[in-house]
Amino acid sequence: MKVPFNLPLIDEAVVGEMQDTLLRTTWLTSGPKVKAFEQELLKQTNAKQILCVNSWNSGTSLMLKWWGIEPGDEVIIPAYTYAATGICPLNLGATVKIVDVGTDFNIDVAKIKEAITEKTKAIIPVDLGGLPCDYAAIHQLIESPEIKALFKPANEKQEKLGRILVIGDAAHSIGATYEGKQSGSITDLAVFSFHSVKNITTGEGGAICFNLPAPFDNEEVHKYVKTFALYGQTKNAFEKNQVGKWRYDIIYQGMKCNMPDICATIGLAQIRTYESVLLPRRKEIYSLYYQGFANHSWAELPIYHTTEKTSSCHLFPLRIKGISEDTRNKIIQQISEMGIGVNVHYVPLPMLTLYKNMGFDIADYPVAYDNYSREISLPIYTTLKNEQIAHVIKNVIHICEEVLQLNKVAV
Ligand SMILES: *Cc1c(COP(=O)(O)O)cnc(C)c1O
Repeated sequence: MKVPFNLPLIDEAVVGEMQDTLLRTTWLTSGPKVKAFEQELLKQTNAKQILCVNSWNSGTSLMLKWWGIEPGDEVIIPAYTYAATGICPLNLGATVKIVDVGTDFNIDVAKIKEAITEKTKAIIPVDLGGLPCDYAAIHQLIESPEIKALFKPANEKQEKLGRILVIGDAAHSIGATYEGKQSGSITDLAVFSFHSVKNITTGEGGAICFNLPAPFDNEEVHKYVKTFALYGQTKNAFEKNQVGKWRYDIIYQGMKCNMPDICATIGLAQIRTYESVLLPRRKEIYSLYYQGFANHSWAELPIYHTTEKTSSCHLFPLRIKGISEDTRNKIIQQISEMGIGVNVHYVPLPMLTLYKNMGFDIADYPVAYDNYSREISLPIYTTLKNEQIAHVIKNVIHICEEVLQLNKVAV
């Protein structure tokens, strides 16, 4: 039995919606499908405003640019994430301050505190695997008089907020909740990714959620960013295409990162059943893995709910207690040879050449390294069948116990 690591959901609903786009609306770039998808996202998240874009990277870059991030500024990010989290601020010339994470894989708030300087302008916490970060503690920290006193606003927006901005990397966490709030409505700004492997996909895509506190006007900021995201043009092609609406202006030197309808079509079909079918299925897969590994003390299972949090169950990052990186690699090799797709999420940033060349050293990130060295991500996606899950559990248990036994003999 082959079990791919990940498959995007392409079901009847997606095919039907795509037929509608190709045969009825016949509109491919940003238009009615993006608008409908944004409406669904607003319902899903309770964010004040939503703007769909063509990737998480575009959304985060747009918002860091809007915030005025420039060379000399510092942005705090966790060591345990996908490389994108750091590349966005780096591309704007900012310095990244990488901090260690906790055993729940999420950014360690005590480490954020140590990393804050008077140059710190933003924090990008990552809801790893779909589990929200400790946002109450993060907010308490950045709102504390001592930390606020360090903040040096460099423009009108920064003066208005008067503190460090929080941009949630919510690439994994659509559908997750924190203290009853939906992911996308928890932080000042949050950005989803709809890349092909994510819980909801548009092939490539992303969305910015706006929840800036007063006196910011989220509608106004949304309008600005929407215009900026399409060359600074006052109307998109769909709006210009309406009778008598041809005249447009270019009011900013903008970027080009709007989401096309052809992509939104897929996300629109998926999000309609996300809360009722797709997300519950992910939770079901989690509980099947939990049951499967319950009696195996070497298996350390990922947290997916606490009193404040529920996860969107994007990844299933299994850890094996007490093993080395080499043993983990050996286990992965054997599982892969069985035709079961597994992965590691993630190689910590300080282990990647780009960041190593900047002087980061994994020795300074012991928890990130420990999480990484013992981690194996198991398949989790909505079309995964129960037989496949049982097959994964059986083989992972068999291989792990065999390898662990071998190690014992070798010692
Ligand atoms: C996928 C991912 C991103 C990047 O998303 P894109 O849409 O590909 O730009 C950023 N952060 C995390 C944690 C991710 O998993």
